[in-house]
Amino acid sequence: MKKHNFNAGPSVLPQFTIENTAKAVLDFNGIGLSIMEISHRSKDFQPVVDEAVALVKELMSIPEGYSVLFLGGGASLQFCMVPFNLLEKKAAYLNTGTWASKAEKEAKLFGEVVEVASSKGANFNYIPKDFTIPADADYFHITTNNTIFGTELRKDLDSPVPLIADMSSDILSRPIDVSKYGLIYAGAQKNLGPAGVTIVIVKDELLGKVSRPIPTMLDYRTHIKEGSMFNTPPVVPIYASLQTLKWLKELGGVSAMEKMNIEKASLLYDEIDRNKLFVGTAATEDRSLMNICFVMKEEYKELEDEFGKFAAAQGMVGIKGHRSVGGFRASTYNALPKESVVALIDAMKEFEKLH
Ligand SMILES: *Cc1c(COP(=O)(O)O)cnc(C)c1O
Repeated sequence: MKKHNFNAGPSVLPQFTIENTAKAVLDFNGIGLSIMEISHRSKDFQPVVDEAVALVKELMSIPEGYSVLFLGGGASLQFCMVPFNLLEKKAAYLNTGTWASKAEKEAKLFGEVVEVASSKGANFNYIPKDFTIPADADYFHITTNNTIFGTELRKDLDSPVPLIADMSSDILSRPIDVSKYGLIYAGAQKNLGPAGVTIVIVKDELLGKVSRPIPTMLDYRTHIKEGSMFNTPPVVPIYASLQTLKWLKELGGVSAMEKMNIEKASLLYDEIDRNKLFVGTAATEDRSLMNICFVMKEEYKELEDEFGKFAAAQGMVGIKGHRSVGGFRASTYNALPKESVVALIDAMKEFEKLH
């Protein structure tokens, strides 16, 4: 049976990415060797990094003065690398979920942290709007898409201090104005490739201002200087990410992605709002286009397990909600085909008829 992959991460990838990566693992560029058994500094691999950097710059319209890096350590390493490199005295954080909280916790190791607002009291089901960013902070950190709670900040905020964004689960899902950000980071395994590589886009002029010594590997300047090749980078995840970038460009880039993402998410939210059994968990105005969270209405709660099994029998994978929200979460990343969303909607309608 055809599987519909709604996994939250690692998650669905384009068939193009999977097939080309599988080929390169068997025989890279027809050289008779696997991509896994050649030097990252060889003449065959260098163009992979160069092209990936160029495509990120092109697809995201990154202005001059920014560097694009491919680093190891996951988005979670950025939680400490950001303050290590940028926090001298004080930083501001917007607390919109589990990942935002984790980022904030790390920053406290390096200096004063001001939490400008938090939606924790409402189990992070909305994104706070009324807050003041202290003008004397070294930076302001946000999480654009809250993977677990299904809320998304789809507006490039105005900030009096450098804006830092964790875009792990919505990078390349819509056009953004990179010039409004000081640093953007994203683990690859939601919208781009397999786990193991993290994209960092950093405005060069922000670096070199903190007084503390920074270990070589944790200093962004090391990786800028060495073109992400200070040490052996995650070669296969970078190659796979390059395939996704090519796929994305072929389909029309981030504007085309946004259109498709809006269409997919609207179809599913419309069904959640229409169906008598289900209710969405995120505030309507903050609903994510990437992670769509919903639960059974109170009076149908006892049907939750049954719907999970019913959907699984129709090929749905990964729709169980995160334990902190419960119910269901359908992740509708770039690579998820519209037909999978339609299949889920059909299952929801069918289940409604049965009850
Ligand atoms: C998944 C996720 C992370 C953690 O990513 P790792 O690469 O596993 O460290 C951080 N932030 C957000 C928003 C995520 O969705």
